[in-house]
Amino acid sequence: MLKEKAFELDQLHRIIETYLVPYVQKVDQEAYYADQFLKELGDAGYFSTTGKTKAEIILDRVFVVKETAKVCMTTAFCIWCHLAAITYLTNCDNQHLKQHTLPKLIAGDVIAGSGLSNPLKSFTHLEKIHLEAHKVEKGFSVNGALPAISNIGEGHAFAFIAKVNEEESVMFFTPCDTDGLTMKKHTNFVGLNGSATYGCKFDDVFIPEENIISYEAFDYVQQVRSEFVSYQIPLGLGVTAASIKAMEETLDISEGVNRSLRVQPQDLSDKYDELYSEFIKLVEENDLTWEKVIRIRLEVAYVTLEAVQAGMIHHGGGGYVKTSDSARRLREAYFIVNLTPTIKHLEKIFTENASN
Ligand SMILES: Cc1cc2nc3c(=O)[nH]c(=O)nc-3n(C[C@H](O)[C@H](O)[C@H](O)COP(=O)(O)OP(=O)(O)OC[C@H]3O[C@@H](n4cnc5c(N)ncnc54)[C@H](O)[C@@H]3O)c2cc1C
Repeated sequence: MLKEKAFELDQLHRIIETYLVPYVQKVDQEAYYADQFLKELGDAGYFSTTGKTKAEIILDRVFVVKETAKVCMTTAFCIWCHLAAITYLTNCDNQHLKQHTLPKLIAGDVIAGSGLSNPLKSFTHLEKIHLEAHKVEKGFSVNGALPAISNIGEGHAFAFIAKVNEEESVMFFTPCDTDGLTMKKHTNFVGLNGSATYGCKFDDVFIPEENIISYEAFDYVQQVRSEFVSYQIPLGLGVTAASIKAMEETLDISEGVNRSLRVQPQDLSDKYDELYSEFIKLVEENDLTWEKVIRIRLEVAYVTLEAVQAGMIHHGGGGYVKTSDSARRLREAYFIVNLTPTIKHLEKIFTENASN
């Protein structure tokens, strides 16, 4: 495997060991939301950009998501949600959001989510945009519902997009504690139940002008999508690395019977190294184009599925226990399939491009 960059490794691992490892079973089995872990990361400066180049910011964040995903992909996904929100606020022109709200997100004082799945799908004509906004004095009033927004709750905030008419969509940021917003928690997923995922219903929710991320949501999303989708790639890389490690550890049990299995950890390790180094190169060369990012995002999704399946086979009967790490990784990995841009969304993009 690739030699990893030792970015604040000891401190990061200490935070993971203290604030995440003891809760992983609870996150998986009891829908426990590890928000304190996210706050600790913020407090220790892991969302900070100070003194870093753009490439260093992205690489460091990728590293944090990957190291977390090795232990708990559900919580790594929560980091992704927060990083997506940070990305939206970092790149917008709204000085109120940048100066007053963004520092709270970076410090981990306010934790945030991203409700962009529906508009992203609407931009590729996979579904109609669910939320409608109409102009009122000093802001907009929003109505409609989104089926799932993660990493939110009391004291949290999130970004979303609503259409004003057929041509115009606006991107907003709102605290969860706002009049007219009803949140219903979902915990009936096969995994990811500790991701604080809620269905959100908007009944005349007022969003003041100072909380507008962009008046031209479609164009704005095109600008930032490569970055926020890049932070999904280490979700799969972390789970894959953890599966490979677990397989390596059982290679010599029962007189080496696992060595006769069709998929060996080395096969997956080779694929992991190839994808990870290709991705790092894109970041370092400032070449994160949409087409290149989603190609890697798709390949990582498939390799992750291969890794968690091989992990189950290598683990044997022990893996078939509900609470085993292999079973957790298998269930969590299927979320990468269904996280927007989903595998079917990505395959549609590549099929259409190929036929153009
Ligand atoms: C655990 C979890 C966390 C998620 N977190 C977020 C998030 O933070 N932000 C975000 O924008 N999206 C979130 N989503 C939505 C996700 O990104 C996908 O949009 C979703 O999984 C549907 O993907 P799909 O395109 O395959 O739609 P399909 O499965 O083909 O479904 C089509 C439509 O059915 C509806 N639908 C799908 N799943 C559900 C459901 N469980 N309940 C009610 N209606 C549903 C939606 O309108 C969806 O677009 C989350 C989904 C899950 C399962």
